[in-house]
Amino acid sequence: MLEIRDLRKSYGKLVALDGVDLTVSRGETVVIMGPSGCGKSTLIRCVNRLTEPDSGTILVKGQDVMALDSGELQEFRRNVGFVFQQFNLIGRLTVLENVMFHLVLGGMDLEEARSRGRVVLHKVGLKGAEQRRPHELSGGQQQRVGIARALVTNPEIMLWDEPTASLDPILVSEVLEVMEELVRTTATTMLIVTHEVSFALRVAERIVFMDKGQVVEEGVPKEIFADPQSEIARLYKRLLVT
Ligand code: ADP
Repeated sequence: MLEIRDLRKSYGKLVALDGVDLTVSRGETVVIMGPSGCGKSTLIRCVNRLTEPDSGTILVKGQDVMALDSGELQEFRRNVGFVFQQFNLIGRLTVLENVMFHLVLGGMDLEEARSRGRVVLHKVGLKGAEQRRPHELSGGQQQRVGIARALVTNPEIMLWDEPTASLDPILVSEVLEVMEELVRTTATTMLIVTHEVSFALRVAERIVFMDKGQVVEEGVPKEIFADPQSEIARLYKRLLVT
């Protein structure tokens, strides 16, 4: 489904991605973990070129993402759901309009877009909030709108960039619950950046640990936490037992 080879990205002298290889199968849920600044966000943003890599290969279903022109890239992004750390909702639009936005931009009939928007809002537990504005919602509710927006195009792959990182601890669990339910009930391929270790242990089919712009260890969560090889995996294991 997704194949990344020798991906590199620097910001001036700072090397954010230092030759990353990663393969994700169709329907697989992969969690990426690692210390702040190790390149997780950069990696996930490179997949749909929200961040432009310097070099390397990204193939999604065999399609060379690096070779897409801007029109093709827009079309490609419609098939990729992206959930942002800071929600990125449009404040002057209602919840339903935020969710419908990309469907309408893609040329979908308004009634059809509204009806699909309502269905996904229901799915994330926000039935009844359609006409509210983002600022009237809690952070957890806003992120659930962000998830609904990513889901509404029925994407084959969803990218999650630390979706609970900007939430109060008390609101984190409501978002994790929605995420867990989605992983269990949809066939969508998921690539999730998160520090939530117990969530990762429950939902990930594979955990990928990064450090200093590289993948340092990957494997099935239970196995990796039973016998971590890298310093980073050992640190995360400690989080799990404390
Ligand atoms: P993570 O998601 O693991 O915290 P990031 O991918 O956000 O890491 O960042 C990797 C490195 O690249 C960090 O040192 C960060 O400061 C730097 N970086 C990220 N985005 C930018 C940017 N737009 N401009 C300059 N440096 C950046």
